[in-house]
Amino acid sequence: MKETNGKRLDFVINKIAAAGVVGAGGGGFPTAFKLKTGTPIQTVIINGAECEPLLKVDQELMARYPAELMAALAAVVDATGARTGVIALKEKYREAHAALAGEISNYPRLKLHLLPDVYPMGDEHLLTYSVTGRTIPPGGLPLQAGAVVLNVETLYNIHQALKGNPVTHKYLTVAGAVRQPVTARVPVGTTVRELLSLAGGPTVDEYVLIAGGPCMGRVTDLNAPVTKTTKGIIVLPVDHPLAAGYQRDLNRELKIALKVCCQCQQCTDFCPRHLLGHPLEPHRVMRAVIYGLVEITMPRALLCSECGLCDLYACPFNLSPRQVNRKVKEELRQRGFRPGPWEAAFPSPLREGRQVPTQRLIDRLGLKEYSTRQAIFWEKDITVNRVRLPLKQGAGAVPRPVVKVGDRVERGDLLACIEGGSLGADLHASIGGTIITIDSAIVIEGGGD
Ligand code: SF4
Ligand code: SF4
Repeated sequence: MKETNGKRLDFVINKIAAAGVVGAGGGGFPTAFKLKTGTPIQTVIINGAECEPLLKVDQELMARYPAELMAALAAVVDATGARTGVIALKEKYREAHAALAGEISNYPRLKLHLLPDVYPMGDEHLLTYSVTGRTIPPGGLPLQAGAVVLNVETLYNIHQALKGNPVTHKYLTVAGAVRQPVTARVPVGTTVRELLSLAGGPTVDEYVLIAGGPCMGRVTDLNAPVTKTTKGIIVLPVDHPLAAGYQRDLNRELKIALKVCCQCQQCTDFCPRHLLGHPLEPHRVMRAVIYGLVEITMPRALLCSECGLCDLYACPFNLSPRQVNRKVKEELRQRGFRPGPWEAAFPSPLREGRQVPTQRLIDRLGLKEYSTRQAIFWEKDITVNRVRLPLKQGAGAVPRPVVKVGDRVERGDLLACIEGGSLGADLHASIGGTIITIDSAIVIEGGGD
C-alpha cells in the first residue's frame, strides 16, 4: 500500500467538504468524513451495481462520463494512498462497460470488476466481498476489509467538487406507471410533482409514489422535494401487488404472522447477509417477536440490510421479516442498545446457488411491463422556479443557515454550513432567486434557471 499523501488528501477532503458532497444514494453519509478515516485504505470501490430494478442513474453516468469518473477515482486513490481503485458494475451494463474500458488504460492503478446480475448486489458487504474476496465483520464497515465504497454519482460529484462546483443537482430516474420513463438531472429541492410532469404524468388515476427503488424505497408524496440522496421516483398503480406491500400495517402483519408463519426458514435460506455468514436468521427474529420472547436472536435484527428479499421473494406467505427487523432495530436503537462485536463471517457454500437473478425478481414483483420500457436520458437543464431544500439531507448534524429571508442568491451560493468540524454537510442554492422561507428547509423562489 502506498503512503497517504497528507497534503493532497487534505486538499481533496476540503474540496469535497466545501461542495457538500454526501453519498448520493442510501443514508447520505458525508463523503469527506468517509475519506477522513485515519486508517489505511487499500481499495477504493465504486459501487456501480445499481441493482434496484428500473433505476438507470449510475448506468447512464458511467456510459456518459467515463473520463470524468476515472479522473476523480484516480485523484481519490492517489490522495488516500490506496493500492487500487475499482469500478464494480454489472456485466450486463455493456454500454457503460465499453465506455469505461476505453479509458482504463490511462490509469494503471484502476480496474473494472464485473458483477453478476443478481439482487441485491450493491449492499456494501456483498460488494466488498465480491471485489476483494474479504468479508467485513457483521455490523462492521468496509474499512475493516481495507475498503471504502463510494456510489457512482458520488464520484461524479467529487469530480465536480475538485473543479470547485458544489452539489446543486441530482440525477434520478422516474419510472413505473408514467407515460415516458426518464432519467434526468434536476435541481435539488425540485418537487416530485414536477418530476411526474417531466415523465409525461402518471398513466393511472390512483397510484402510490415510491422514493428510491421499488425494492428498498419509501412512500413519498407529490410535494416532497428531491434531496441529495433521491435516486428515483417509482409510480405504482394503487392496486399493484408491490404497492400493497408499501402500505402494510405492522400490527396487522404481526397478527397474521402469528397465525401463518410456519418457521419454514425460507427467509433465512435466501437472506443475502445470512448467506455471507452473518448470524442473521430472520425466521428466528420472527419467532421471537411473534411469541413475545426476549431472545438472544433479537439484536441480530441490527444486521438486516432491509434488502427485502425475504418478503419480496422468499416467504411463501408474503410475510415481512424485513419490516419486523426494522421495528426491532428502531426499538433497540431507542433503548441505546449497542451490539458487541460479532464473530467474523464465513460465506456459506450454498451462497452461489441461492443468489436471486434480477430478472426473476422483476417477474415475481410484477415489474416486467415497466422494466422493458426504455427510460430516456433528459440532456437539457430543467427550469424550476421554486425549490425547497431540507437543511438535513444526510447523516450527521443539521447545517446552520448563513442566509436570511429576503436575501438574493445565485446557484451554488452557500445556504447553510456545518460548524466546528461536526459530522454533516454544507448546503448550497440549487437555483438563483430570493429566499422566501427558512425553517427546517430553505425555500428559494423566482430563480428561473
Ligand atoms: S419464510 Fe415466511 S413463513 Fe417461512 S419462516 Fe420466514 S416468515 Fe415464516
Ligand atoms: S431484508 Fe430480509 S433478506 Fe434482506 S437482509 Fe434483512 S432479513 Fe435478510
